[in-house]
Amino acid sequence: MKKIIIIGGGIAGLASAYRIQEEIEKGADIQCEVLEASAHFGGKIHTERFDGFLVERGPDSFISQKPWAIQLCKKIGLADRLTGTNPDQTKTYVYTGKRMVTMPDGLSLMIPTKFLPFALSPLFSWAGKIRMGMDLFLPGKGDDKDESLASFIRRRLGEEALRKMAEPMLAGIYASDPETMSIKSTFPMFFQAEQKYRSLILGALARKRSAGAQPAAPKGPSPFTLFMTLKNGLGEMTERLLEKCPNITFRENTKVREISKTESGW
Ligand SMILES: Cc1cc2nc3c(=O)[nH]c(=O)nc-3n(C[C@H](O)[C@H](O)[C@H](O)COP(=O)(O)OP(=O)(O)OC[C@H]3O[C@@H](n4cnc5c(N)ncnc54)[C@H](O)[C@@H]3O)c2cc1C
Repeated sequence: MKKIIIIGGGIAGLASAYRIQEEIEKGADIQCEVLEASAHFGGKIHTERFDGFLVERGPDSFISQKPWAIQLCKKIGLADRLTGTNPDQTKTYVYTGKRMVTMPDGLSLMIPTKFLPFALSPLFSWAGKIRMGMDLFLPGKGDDKDESLASFIRRRLGEEALRKMAEPMLAGIYASDPETMSIKSTFPMFFQAEQKYRSLILGALARKRSAGAQPAAPKGPSPFTLFMTLKNGLGEMTERLLEKCPNITFRENTKVREISKTESGW
């Protein structure tokens, strides 16, 4: 018999457990345990439901362009529970100066690619807009060393772009501090755009042109919006994974302190 220990009961650990469960159901002789330090399985995914509200304490959706989360939902019988974003509410708002201000149209991963909506946007001051436009003329960095997301955005687009776009839109994805995030690890496409095109705006325009030159996608509405979730929150996925793994042992409040090798294994 094979013994497998999974350390951590977040979505990665639970999806791995389910994969092993599939093998056990096919006849594999495996004994598997998931050891979770906290009292809760799901890791960062933590849905709370109270007083008729549904509150996501961490992630609230996944990107449908990467197919694996949808595939997993289908496998565990949650296909009819998938739900997309409201197509009538596609605007993104930034809370600034004590009010909600819409992001201008034509931003491609926060890089402006349409002049007029950007020029007319009340989100940025004129000084901020001019500083962002300077990206078109500034020289490239000249080396391929890593730097923080904050330093990269400050250098290319200025402080205002960092505060009003990069912090909420980019650092928000990682719930992290842009001063400590590696640009190469978190947003390699920006790093590559500067290396290839010198300017982020020129890079975004080139990307837009090449996307326009691609053959048109098959007609007909896609059943998925860019961001998808489950009707009762992402917690539905982790709860269902637990139910779908009857042959796996789940131990909560079990923190792994050390992994050491023995003569016969670990
Ligand atoms: C606020 C926030 C919002 C996010 N929003 C999104 C989003 O909308 N969409 C998206 O795709 N991603 C989002 N993310 C990222 C996403 O949540 C994570 O990438 C994903 O949940 C990580 O899953 P994981 O299983 O790898 O790790 P985790 O979810 O961190 O799980 C790791 C588990 O291991 C346990 N553990 C750690 N050490 C030990 C130990 N020594 N012994 C035993 N157990 C241990 C932990 O308690 C935890 O339960 C968000 C992240 C945050 C923080």
